Amino acid sequence: AEPNADLAEMIRTIPDHPKPGIMFRDISTLMLDGGSFAATIDRLAEALEGDAPDLIAGTEARGFVFASALAYRLGCGVLMLRKAGKLPGPSVRIEYALEYGTDMLEMHDDACGPGANIVLVDDLIATGGTALAAVELLRGRGAHVSQALFVIDLPELGGAQKLRDAGVEPHALVE
Ligand code: 5GP
Repeated sequence: AEPNADLAEMIRTIPDHPKPGIMFRDISTLMLDGGSFAATIDRLAEALEGDAPDLIAGTEARGFVFASALAYRLGCGVLMLRKAGKLPGPSVRIEYALEYGTDMLEMHDDACGPGANIVLVDDLIATGGTALAAVELLRGRGAHVSQALFVIDLPELGGAQKLRDAGVEPHALVE
């Protein structure tokens, strides 16, 4: 059997969301099942092989769900990477390209000290645009980012390889 086949079967595919032709992988069904959610967090934590970071950085919004449970389990803090205009304090931002247009991620400029070891977490990696922007933003504040965790990787879209090329080892539970 595929690794994590039990988790894969809890993920629902919704055709034509958010646009015609896109097969959206919906992890809300996995999150609704307590046993599956706990197993997801445990297996993401195990992928780090004992290297607890200083902080887990999660990407708004689904990344927050996994980042927070994971940080609790590992005994570290949570750094929120937010969409534009949400943070109250002085912030730094990065703009990144989408298929059509651009998007933005922001973090408080004092959220991490230089040299902080940070693991990035999101629900899914596709083209890698979001994850690479997150890594660039964190590294711009002096953080070390060498590992990233995802529930799902869509390998044909190349994001995981782009992360490796940037010196970040991606770990995903389900392809
Ligand atoms: P990327 O930037 O790698 O192309 O896209 C990944 C980002 O878009 C992640 O933040 C992820 O939450 C979201 N995303 C893109 N496609 C999907 C999908 O099919 N399912 C889910 N759950 N998120 C997606």
